[in-house]
Amino acid sequence: MKMNICYGFQLMENCEGPGVPFQIFRQRFKEGPDEIIYDNGCSFSHYAYNRDPGHFWRTKFLCDKVHWKNHQGCSEGFNSSAYPYLEKVNTNVAEHRNRKLRDLESMVSYMTTQNFVLFVKLFSAHENMLQIAKMVDPLDNSIPYISVYRKFNEMMAKQK
Ligand SMILES: [Zn+2]
Repeated sequence: MKMNICYGFQLMENCEGPGVPFQIFRQRFKEGPDEIIYDNGCSFSHYAYNRDPGHFWRTKFLCDKVHWKNHQGCSEGFNSSAYPYLEKVNTNVAEHRNRKLRDLESMVSYMTTQNFVLFVKLFSAHENMLQIAKMVDPLDNSIPYISVYRKFNEMMAKQK
């Protein structure tokens, strides 16, 4: 997730562990990204470097700002707050998206897996369009339906 845009998701059948993001970055990226900020970035770095150092050799692993307080004894090198270039970066965007998904729990609890996946895809696309509408030039109407999402954002801002 970058700039609060969701590029994909994975349906987890068990509890989250470092194997989940490892599979995502191994299967969906030709090589490891420059940087991964994750709630458990320190453990994930060990997991990833031990299993496929060739894929992640240039990746810097960091812990997000919210979860860093739980990392007693970890190297300060994993602390995303220690890097001035990340000062204004929201390192917790995945947590924000997770919270929104949690709010949908009662709606999706009785869906079939197929309907659940479709619902999450549509929800993610909708959330992405809301973010894109905030980022693109207000005069740029080259993205289909962008004006609809701009108006939706304006309506949401008035409700706050
Ligand atoms: Zn740690």
